[in-house]
Amino acid sequence: MGRTVYVNGRYQPYADATVHAEDRGFQFGDGVYEVIEVRDGALIDPTRHVERLARSLGEIRMPMPMSSAAFGHVLRETVRRNRVHDGTIYLQVTRGAGPRDFLFPAVPYRQTVVCIARPSSRAASDARAAKGIAVKTVADPRWDRCDIKTVMLLPASLAKEDAKAEGAREAWFVDVEGFVTEGASSNAWIVDTSGRLRTRPVDAAILRGVTRTTLIDVIRKFGLDIVEQPFTVAEAKAAREAFVTAATNIVTPVIAIDGVRIGDGMPGELSKRLRAAFHGVAERK
Ligand code: PLP
Repeated sequence: MGRTVYVNGRYQPYADATVHAEDRGFQFGDGVYEVIEVRDGALIDPTRHVERLARSLGEIRMPMPMSSAAFGHVLRETVRRNRVHDGTIYLQVTRGAGPRDFLFPAVPYRQTVVCIARPSSRAASDARAAKGIAVKTVADPRWDRCDIKTVMLLPASLAKEDAKAEGAREAWFVDVEGFVTEGASSNAWIVDTSGRLRTRPVDAAILRGVTRTTLIDVIRKFGLDIVEQPFTVAEAKAAREAFVTAATNIVTPVIAIDGVRIGDGMPGELSKRLRAAFHGVAERK
């Protein structure tokens, strides 16, 4: 059994898995998505991811194309058919395909639903976390609804290219006031000079990361304090520790920001502890 992709109700061979040329996701970025971690063949935090998908859809005035339970079935079946043990599953919903028009169709198109499972190496992710990553800060050029997980990812793609050109793995967006908003595909955290865990509060400037939400559960379980308060680039560079969170990288320590070493230049102890504890708390289904 080769790789298969779920497209609109059918599991198609990878090479044949296509959507229409006039899909609104393609023409307008008129769609939303989720990326969920797969670990030991199970989905991590599927309930929160599907809830966020429903919210994103609602914010762009689209209904859920199927029930949450049906999404759960499609996600699991795609994982099963592709025999993914560790990796990710990508789920995208667009407003569908039809003659190009800025206005929404008077009679709704059939929404496009795509689900792709991809294996990835847990050892490689753990090795990256053990070493820590570098990040580069860039001005945040995105729109003012970053709380919606839309497929309009060009700013994130360009920012990651800029980061890569300087040997960094992630870009951190910075708002006009000099505060870090979030990573191009992650949430940004520090342990500040007072030893407080800090991350930006959720507002329209950032995505409410599912990993962020679950990590707050982990932090509370440990009885640690967390301050949801923005931090500047200068504060981040002076921090004891820094890290990013996302379904694709759990908790990954940051050891340099714009070439400035964070702490002693090694992954921080708290960051490592939180990463190690994460899957003991996250939903696994
Ligand atoms: N912020 C942005 C802009 C993202 O693209 C992502 C994930 O892709 C995140 C934060 C982290 O979200 P999650 O923890 O749900 O993966």
